[in-house]
Order: sequence, then structure tokens, then C-alpha cells
Amino acid sequence: MSLKCKLDSNASCDAIYSKKEKGESHMERRNNSHPAPTIQLRTLLDNCIDLLNRTDIFCLLIHLFFLLLYNYYHYSYLTLLNGVSCLIFLSLLILGRFQKIIPVIIGTLLEPLLHATACTLILGWNYGYTLYIICMIPAVLFILVFVERGGFISSILGFACLAWFCCLKLITTYIEPLSTATYYPLLETIVYITNCFSAFILVIEFVSLFAKHVKNVNQDLTQKNITLDRLAHIDPLTNLWNRRCMDERLAFFMEKRQTKRENFCLILGDIDDFKKINDTYGHDCGDEVLKSISHIISTNVRTQDYVARWGGEEIMIILSDISRKDSLQIIQRLQEKIREHTLEYDSKNIHITMTFGLSYSDEYDDLKSLLLLVDQRLYEGKDSGKDCIISWQS
Ligand code: GH3
Ligand code: MG
Ligand code: MG
Repeated sequence: MSLKCKLDSNASCDAIYSKKEKGESHMERRNNSHPAPTIQLRTLLDNCIDLLNRTDIFCLLIHLFFLLLYNYYHYSYLTLLNGVSCLIFLSLLILGRFQKIIPVIIGTLLEPLLHATACTLILGWNYGYTLYIICMIPAVLFILVFVERGGFISSILGFACLAWFCCLKLITTYIEPLSTATYYPLLETIVYITNCFSAFILVIEFVSLFAKHVKNVNQDLTQKNITLDRLAHIDPLTNLWNRRCMDERLAFFMEKRQTKRENFCLILGDIDDFKKINDTYGHDCGDEVLKSISHIISTNVRTQDYVARWGGEEIMIILSDISRKDSLQIIQRLQEKIREHTLEYDSKNIHITMTFGLSYSDEYDDLKSLLLLVDQRLYEGKDSGKDCIISWQS
């Protein structure tokens, strides 16, 4: 959300800061389009719990399948081993229900490693159990997200997995499998394919958790950027655009005038005798006056216009793509509204008036002269009794 994008087109700026809904004020539009920055997606921890839950159910089903398979082929040790694993995953699921995250993480990662080692020693290398050791690599990398300087720990664990993998290869090369049961080639194929399938699923799960986490972090950053951008462009008291934003808008409208021949009206308004309001009713009352005046102005211009707090009690307005006649009408109506308005403060009725200086964009070719002109006209208005509009006609 660069500054450039806002300057490039009026529409893009509106897309960022306002919804162009009929009847909505500048302030309301801004408030509605910028809710407090909250991450809508679930947190990484929630995703982790979900993943662990899914993984435990998946592992339970796989072990159940192996239990039935080995039982069918009369592999009693492996039937028993898978029975124990089923009980472990049932317990992990129950622990997960009680949010015991740490034992669930340790159990979910350690069980496949130990089970794979035991099965490789019993059956040999060809049954594909060692694939589960490779599966642990994305899980090990995840430590980087949670632990500060986790790089060292994950490197150690990564090398430990590699060493474990190689050790098993060496052992199975030189030592016969422990199982003395009859060899069934079909059983070996079924077990190998099932292990490949499960290992792939586990890798995909871990990697998708990582991807979700990156997406969450990106969304969080985007939200924060929007908030920062908003803070940099909005006056906190009045909720109007601030001077910095108006400077950008003015430059944009000057450029548009030259390239598209689109004229605009520049207005500088100043609250009359504001110091007296502060002195009589207090600074807080002065703030309330500023807020209510800002509200009246922003609700009485069009959606394509810009209202900013230029300084203290001075408000600047840009009426975009407008004729001289229409701009005068808008300001006269606005002045009338301000005059009619009564602010109730501490059971006192306060009436406010404002003086306006107007300039039309074709009066000068450069921004500096236009700004000087509205300023002069505003002070002409002050000198000639206040509560008036001084324009090219005056
Ligand atoms: P004039 O009709 O000639 O404009 O007179 P004025 O009293 O409005 O103008 P002056 O420049 O003498 O006083 C402006 C005052 O506005 C002085 C300053 O303390 C006050 N002011 C500026 N910013 C704020 C603000 O944010 N809140 C409040 N309450 N007062 C402010
Ligand atoms: Mg004033
Ligand atoms: Mg002033």
C-alpha cells in the first residue's frame, strides 16, 4: 500500500480508505473500512492442534489396518506392536482433547520413529518403514518458527534423523531381520505401499501447516501496514485527513488538472473566535466544537471530495471536478448548516460560525500561489467581519 498507489488515482485511494456508499460521511466511511487490525484467520497454535489431531486419527487408522493385516498373516509380534501403537494414539487423542499439547507433540513425533525402527529391525529394510524418518525433516524444521535461534536445534535434530536413517541401513545390511515368520512378497508390497502413502500424507500435512503459517504472518503484516498507513494520514481528534495526506492530494489534483483538464475548488475554513470558546468553556469544549464542525463538513460534501484538518482550527476542503458555481453553492449550504448547528456542552448551547476563503484551480498554475490565495481570502474574510465566504467573486 504505497503512497504512490494513492497518488496515482483517486479511486485507488478511496479503495484503501473509504467505501463509496451514498450518505456516508468521510469519517464514517473511514471508520467502517478500517476495523481494528485483528487476524481473522486462526492462529498457528490452533492450526497445530488441528494438525496433531488429524495426524493422530490418521496414525490410529493406519495402525489398525496393520494390526488386522499382520493378524491375518499370523505375525503375532507385529500385531501386538500395532495394538500398542493404537493404544498410544488413542491416549494422544484423549490428551489432545484436554489441550495437553506438549505430550501430544512429543508422542506424535516419537511414536512413528520408534515404531519404524522396531519394524525395520523385525522385518528388514524393504518394508519402507524408514520413510517415516525422512518425514520428520519438515517437522524438525518447524522448530524454527517456535524457538528463537531454533536453527541450531533443528540442524542437530536433522542430522540425528540422518544418522538414525543410516544406522538402520547399516544394521539391516549386516544383520538378518528378527522375524522368523514366513515371508510373503504380497505382504511386503502392501506394507511398503501403505508406508509410502502414509509418509507422503504426513509430509504434505507438515508442509501445509508451514504454508498456512507464512500466509498468517503475511496477512498480519498487511493489516499492520494498513493501520500504519491510516495512522500516518488521519488526524486522530477529528478523524479527518491530516495535512500530510492533503499535501499528497493537492499534488495529485494539480497534476490531474494539467493532464485531464479537471478543475477543482480549494477552500480554507477557519472557526471564528475559537480562542474565546476555549477560554470560556475550556479546551475540552473546544475539542468537541472541532469534532462537530468536522462532522458537519465531512457529511455535507460529496464522496469524491477531500476534507482535512490543515492546522489548529483550520479545515481545508478540495471539491474535485466541479464548476465555480457549484462549489459556491456547496460552501454556502455548508456555512448555513454550521450557523444553524447548536452544540450542547455542559448544558450550554454553543453556536459556531466559520469564515471561508475559496480559490479555483484555474486561477494559478502552481499550488503555492493557490494556497497563498485561499489564505489571503480567508484573512480578508476575517478582516471584513468573519462568518463569510470570500471567493473570486468578492
Ligand atoms: P479568529 O476568529 O480570528 O480565527 O480567532 P480565533 O480565536 O479562532 O483564532 P486564534 O488563532 O486567535 O486562536 C486559535 C486557537 O485555537 C488557539 C489554539 O489554542 C486553539 N487550538 C488549536 N488547536 C486546538 C485543538 O486541537 N483543540 C482546542 N481545544 N483548541 C485548539
Ligand atoms: Mg479561528
Ligand atoms: Mg486560525
